[in-house]
Amino acid sequence: MVKRILLPLLLSLGILPASAKDSDQHPFASFLNSFIPKVASKSNQLNKAFWLLETTGSSDAADLVASLSTELSMLFNDSKTYQDLLKWEKDSSLTDPFLKRELKLLIYSFKEKSIPEALLKELAEKEAALSYAYANFRAKLDGKTVSENDLLEVLKIEKNPSLRAKAWEASKEIGMALAPKILELVNLRNQAAKSLGYNNYFQMQLDLQEVDEKALFELLEQIATKSDSAYQKALAHIEASQSEQFSTPTDQLGPWAWSDPFAQEDPVNRSELDSLVSETDLAESSRLFYKNMGIDVEPILKQSDLLERPGKNQHAFCINMDRGSDVRTLNNIKPTLKWFETVLHELGHAIYELGYHQDLPWKLREPPHMITTEAMALMAGRRAYLASSLSKLPTYSKSQDSLIVKAEESLQRRQLIFSRWVLVMTYFERELYTNPTQDLNKLWWSLVAKYQKITPPKNREGKNDWASKYHIGLAPVYYYSYLLGEVFASSMEESILEITGSKDLDSQAAGKFLQEKLFSPGNSKNWSELIEHVVGKPLTPDAWLKQFANE
Ligand SMILES: [Zn+2]
Repeated sequence: MVKRILLPLLLSLGILPASAKDSDQHPFASFLNSFIPKVASKSNQLNKAFWLLETTGSSDAADLVASLSTELSMLFNDSKTYQDLLKWEKDSSLTDPFLKRELKLLIYSFKEKSIPEALLKELAEKEAALSYAYANFRAKLDGKTVSENDLLEVLKIEKNPSLRAKAWEASKEIGMALAPKILELVNLRNQAAKSLGYNNYFQMQLDLQEVDEKALFELLEQIATKSDSAYQKALAHIEASQSEQFSTPTDQLGPWAWSDPFAQEDPVNRSELDSLVSETDLAESSRLFYKNMGIDVEPILKQSDLLERPGKNQHAFCINMDRGSDVRTLNNIKPTLKWFETVLHELGHAIYELGYHQDLPWKLREPPHMITTEAMALMAGRRAYLASSLSKLPTYSKSQDSLIVKAEESLQRRQLIFSRWVLVMTYFERELYTNPTQDLNKLWWSLVAKYQKITPPKNREGKNDWASKYHIGLAPVYYYSYLLGEVFASSMEESILEITGSKDLDSQAAGKFLQEKLFSPGNSKNWSELIEHVVGKPLTPDAWLKQFANE
């Protein structure tokens, strides 16, 4: 398997332009030849330990993941090498585009790890402790200890508003318990960012992810303004349905009327829509979907872990084990539309990972940013709500047509609801890192009121509701990628429509387009260059607004 990783690196030299010979002799090229195999080998070990941990919950695997990720990190914590990389960056004799891109990416990695070692260690320890605290925290409901899933279940099925409110309040307990730990981390992260010359951690992360902060917020602002009336309309529909369901006037509904604790999902018709796939083999249907694109996902499914089991991670993800042919997904398939979406989504990531050009060197066999791979996965996941794919399921019958119309309506609402949620998260995170000592709960609810248009409930003063969202503490400065992914997905659907005459993905022509344009370049271009390469223009929210906000 390690051999598979070295091979593309050697092959790449064969396809380089005339200047390649010189680049080949360049000290950076020899550095790569000795450095990359070490990183590749450590990453492979880490991925195996991680897979073991996530599929079994073994505490030995957890220890192994912690020590291997520290070892991997430490490969980049080397100031002498960092100085060499910076020196080579100024060297005009280095002209090969792959080498230049690899150099740039390594500079980001070394820069991020060049903060003082003691701080790096403290951050790793505090993050591990927070992660452990999240996994093990259990709220109390009516004096009984309950899991997160128990609380979600109440929000999904309970009809009594006061019981719903209690479950919702219990879901916020974790925020009160963990906020001090999160704030400690926020301060350490800011300290790390300052040591590298940034104002704060939010700015540092965007910079290392090659994202321009001003351009990002201009785009978010445009989405917020231009989708406002469409969201208001969707919200009115949702509140009318909630009001009827819970026999409560709309102005007294409260955030607990939603089917999840953060109002990030469409709560309307959920169980009714699930009946569309209650008899369907979702893995097999997903396999057929990708087969129509000309892509065989059978080998991925074979290596994947698809069904629920005790001890296993309850969510879903895709992992490229070796940057070669071993790509796997983890799912916990249940007969719901959400799981159909999820299986398609994770396979979307997987085909992307398997689609890199064979001549790309190891370092470039990755997406340039989460935005581009999320776009593929989200675009595939949308199919779970569309007539074009639901009517092709082996279990489809004509009698489902009216439900399928509702599924399509739900997709539009989902997009609007989720975009508002991303706005809350992203604006909050920017403020959190800019000024962590302000009244964060007040800030949180003011953003919820502004973007989600949900009235803050009474008696939340002095609470830490913001801290109950996992990503704030443990997946920082990441959420915006989902919305940019959706925006890029809509833009790609327009390109696919132009090329194939249909927005459907399950045609050989759509598969070929994605393979050649989106997957093949890997990280040889940065994310915005790649988007322009795929859709022929820079990223704008126009296609998304047209599709979901009737703009
Ligand atoms: Zn994803």
